[in-house]
Amino acid sequence: MATKKHYQVQIDPAMCKGTEGCGLCLHVCEESVLQRAEAMNARGVHPAEVVETDRCTGCGLCVLHCPDLAIWLEAAAVAA
Ligand code: SF4
Ligand code: SF4
Repeated sequence: MATKKHYQVQIDPAMCKGTEGCGLCLHVCEESVLQRAEAMNARGVHPAEVVETDRCTGCGLCVLHCPDLAIWLEAAAVAA
């Protein structure tokens, strides 16, 4: 059976310094996968959150740009 890779981007909101003062991941994502969360984290800021996970291409730009290492990618092979 043919398979293709599906990427799942993950964010730990507790590690995010906040989209107010950073937001780099939102700016670099060309697929609008990420947005500012309504809820605040323990730091009292609005972290980034994943909203359109199916649009993620796995390009890795958000992971590379996050200064707080709050974002990572998980990949799984699924049936095409
Ligand atoms: S890996 Fe690429 S497409 Fe996926 S959320 Fe990050 S920047 Fe967007
Ligand atoms: S790049 Fe990292 S620290 Fe900056 S808003 Fe996105 S998740 Fe938060």
